[in-house]
Amino acid sequence: MIVAANFKTNKTRKETVEYLKELKTIDFENVKVAVFPPQTALTEDDLIGAQNAYPTVNGAYTGEIGLEQLNEFNIKRILIGHSERRHILGETQEFIAEKFNFFKENGFEIFYCIGEPLEIRKKGIDAVIEYLKNQFRGIDLEYEKLIVAYEPVWAIGTGVSASIDEIRATHAEIRKFTSKPILYGGSVKLNNIEDIIKIKNVDGVLVGSASLDVNVFKQMIKKA
Ligand code: 13P
Repeated sequence: MIVAANFKTNKTRKETVEYLKELKTIDFENVKVAVFPPQTALTEDDLIGAQNAYPTVNGAYTGEIGLEQLNEFNIKRILIGHSERRHILGETQEFIAEKFNFFKENGFEIFYCIGEPLEIRKKGIDAVIEYLKNQFRGIDLEYEKLIVAYEPVWAIGTGVSASIDEIRATHAEIRKFTSKPILYGGSVKLNNIEDIIKIKNVDGVLVGSASLDVNVFKQMIKKA
């Protein structure tokens, strides 16, 4: 089971250090835990991954960080394809695939996010799968360090997760494309995590808002 926290644009470096210290007061031997803090809070810690980076060692990409900056903190884990980067920052599938391949070549563990918007979900599962297939373009779905995260856009930050049946059906379809772990993300909370992780083909969760409270996140790990 994998339980990952995506802080997005929340928490300072100081808060993140305190968070990690508190998080490690519990024993999570049987659960793989990952924490994605904002770039200013990247530290050398096994749990830490980067929310984003530019597919370059270094260079002229104002506002971005590259491999050189991640190497400084020994970071070997990255989130790629998150819906907020696709939709708010305007990242195209081509660019996302370029990032994927760069970080694959550099041996990173890649949490690769996919997910459909509401208008696609309303059309039914066939339309959803067609949409997700496009988000797999240019991605090696058998990369050994790949973890897929299915996060329906309409369930992110809304407080309304996908239903058990929707998650089951969608993960079963994604499973046809990859043998790697598949996480669910989108309004995963303390009160629904147990039901979600019991679903077949759900290998863990990617948690946004509920992960911000370390005591809540610790309880979520315990439930996993
Ligand atoms: P929420 O848990 O806040 O819905 O966010 C999910 C997410 O986007 C994690 O990457």
